[in-house]
Amino acid sequence: MRPPDEAAVSVLARLASLRQHQRHGQRSPHKPLLVLLALGRLAATGSSEVPWTQAEAKLAELIAEFGPPSRTGRAQSAAYPFTRLRADGVWVLDQDVPMDLVGPLARGHVTGRLEAPVESALLARPALIGSAARDLVLSNFPATVAPDVLQAVGLDPRQVLGPGDLLPSAGGVPGERARDPRWRAAVLEAWDRQCAFCGYDGQITGASVGIEAAHVRWFAFGGPDALDNGLALCALHHKLFDLGALGLSLGLQVMVSAKFSARTPAGRAVYELHGYQLAPRPGTAMPAPVHVTWHTRQVFKGEPLAA
Ligand SMILES: [Zn+2]
Repeated sequence: MRPPDEAAVSVLARLASLRQHQRHGQRSPHKPLLVLLALGRLAATGSSEVPWTQAEAKLAELIAEFGPPSRTGRAQSAAYPFTRLRADGVWVLDQDVPMDLVGPLARGHVTGRLEAPVESALLARPALIGSAARDLVLSNFPATVAPDVLQAVGLDPRQVLGPGDLLPSAGGVPGERARDPRWRAAVLEAWDRQCAFCGYDGQITGASVGIEAAHVRWFAFGGPDALDNGLALCALHHKLFDLGALGLSLGLQVMVSAKFSARTPAGRAVYELHGYQLAPRPGTAMPAPVHVTWHTRQVFKGEPLAA
């Protein structure tokens, strides 16, 4: 039997309340990542059930790749959403275990799943799985990273986002601030249509190709569509910047995370960006310290390479 529309509405509302666990712009994608993982399993198998023994490694991997820089251990960071998501009314464990502790989860062979009413409402209307996933992923990650997150949890990015939303400037989640349609062009113009980090300036039939306008402080985390919050970056360096492999110092030098590694000359060329001083043409607004600091604290992965 299909549940009434009310059920669908309340499920979406419950999941939407998880959109952002952020206070003062601090990223905490742990719970959204667990919900996305559960939605991926639900879409693939018809059940969101996942034993801790399987969730631990997968969740730790997702948090390490897509989460903010962290000083806690991998298992510890996975235990946090696995136990704490219960408080949000969407997640249950088959045993009562204390919050945050890894030991009891492993010893008790604990299994988690989306709450039964949530799961049945989603199964009755599979399109809701996509809209819930879209909401969660776009409110926690920039458009460069959202498709990777979806793929990592087993959801199809094209189905969830639609082809148009893969473009950095497109679409948003309900309730999101309006984007400034002129921002992208203004940023590219200010940086002479070349990557602020490597100088790449490719064109195809006269139009820039592979150059994007990047937010320093992510739009979803209060970053304005302002020239002092934008950089023109090539597609590769945009992605590495959004994943925290690259960062900026307050002195506006490129930082390469010590966690980044590469073997081939093309990959190792990234190391050479370390210490590069941004040098746009005179008059270009430079990234504001407040946005640079946000990126360093919330995105950049750990310590910069020794200079
Ligand atoms: Zn570049």
